[in-house]
Amino acid sequence: MRLATLATANGPHPAIQVGDYYVDLAAMSPGFPPTVRQLLAADQSVRNAALDLANRDDAVRIPVSEAKLHSPIPDPQKVLCVGLNYRDHAIESGLPIPREPVLFSKFPSALIGSGENIVLPRVSTKVDFEAELIIVIGKRGRPTDRDAMEYVAGYTVGHDVSARDWQLEKDGKQWMTGKTFDTFAPVGPVLVTVDEVPDIHNLQISLKLNGAFVQNSNTREMIFSVPQILAYVGQIMTLEVGDLIFTGTPPGVGIGRKPPLYLKAGDVCEVEIQGLGILKNTCVAE
Ligand code: ZN
Repeated sequence: MRLATLATANGPHPAIQVGDYYVDLAAMSPGFPPTVRQLLAADQSVRNAALDLANRDDAVRIPVSEAKLHSPIPDPQKVLCVGLNYRDHAIESGLPIPREPVLFSKFPSALIGSGENIVLPRVSTKVDFEAELIIVIGKRGRPTDRDAMEYVAGYTVGHDVSARDWQLEKDGKQWMTGKTFDTFAPVGPVLVTVDEVPDIHNLQISLKLNGAFVQNSNTREMIFSVPQILAYVGQIMTLEVGDLIFTGTPPGVGIGRKPPLYLKAGDVCEVEIQGLGILKNTCVAE
């Protein structure tokens, strides 16, 4: 199942992608869970009913090419991120392979959907791009190394936009400010449920900047696998349905280039993960 959140005149509506269309669930059946997060929290029978509804002849269909999207989950409780998690990226950066995941966070206020604009802050001159796979949590609790995958609802495509001057050049060396400017968490276009992803650790992941590849790798290069990340986080905190976990970026980011390559107004970023879709966002100046 491919779930999206449509931006409509009546607010965000949960939707299911069927072929080249999104079916607006809220427009068809007002009694349905009003958000994708609540749809994930509901019983499997509710999601099955949603899929039946989406396949009906009288379904309210919006062409994918015309739909305005939010992040598939616009209202998560948490947005966690893993730093340095690709073997090829660590080697490229000349950094040691980490022994444990490096965690940081973004706030939900940074989330945007595919097609929305990344706003380049007036106060930064070093906004960088990072293609990332995102884990979407489908069950509340604390994953362990025995049951971690039971917590996964599905996956989506993410862009960990990063102001390097704020991330790395400020007193105290804390990453958070550089990572969570408004619009610095593009997510989507859709959430793809686990049953449609045969092997999460063997998917091409890439980022095109103005049509040219700047990142191109495979999720098999991840240092910490999806269950390892979940079991690590589960030692620390309770995960909630709809929480998002960015899982790190492959090589090719702008700060690692000579000369460095940073985003400017008018740039178009397309993050693609095999089978999950293309997350496309244009940069604009604040
Ligand atoms: Zn990142």
